[in-house]
Amino acid sequence: MRSGPPTLLTALCHNESQLSAPSPAFLELRDSALVCTACRLAETRTNVVFGAGDPEARLMLVGEAPGRNEDLQGEPFVGAAGQLLDELLGSIGIARDEAYIANVLKCRPPGNRDPKEDEIDSCKGYLREQIRMIQPEVVVTLGNFATKLLVPTEMGITRMRGQRIEWWLGATLIPTFHPAAALRGRPQVRTDMEEDFALVAQALNDRRPAPEAPDPVQSSLGLS
Ligand code: URA
Repeated sequence: MRSGPPTLLTALCHNESQLSAPSPAFLELRDSALVCTACRLAETRTNVVFGAGDPEARLMLVGEAPGRNEDLQGEPFVGAAGQLLDELLGSIGIARDEAYIANVLKCRPPGNRDPKEDEIDSCKGYLREQIRMIQPEVVVTLGNFATKLLVPTEMGITRMRGQRIEWWLGATLIPTFHPAAALRGRPQVRTDMEEDFALVAQALNDRRPAPEAPDPVQSSLGLS
């Protein structure tokens, strides 16, 4: 549970005014991931990085795989890429713990090499179940691996980014660059990501149900 007053965007990002505890099914899924040995990455990992954040978040972000810092701490996006991700979320008024952050792979590929196809195949069931249980309204895929896993496309992220895709379980999926690409690439990549996060805020806002109109009888009687 989050303590302290909700941020302005708690209202935009979260279903209720308080952030929620994970359900037993969600904890069971996490516990099974924490002891997973389905692929070779189990032999070299320090920690499984299952995911972090609000299990009832309206916004879910999906990265590629844990890096060195994430492997050591068991948390997603704790290095430089994570700091940039926090800034991008902050630019639309969302705190990291109001969203849910996960990766395609839950274990670090040695030397931060690209995920292999059989590793993705072994791991993708965890992500699928995370999405099914969280039921986010907006899913942001960060980079090519997450985008190509969740959207059937051969198109690269440069062409895919910045669009709203009507997706599984009624969610809106918005692909953007991986934050690491902004850290090592042209400044334009960050500008594009800022634009994509503005689209995320818009999508969350658009999906918010209109507030109920006041009961006209109560209003006229001065009871509201
Ligand atoms: N890059 C990712 O894709 N995920 C992380 O958790 C950290 C860096």
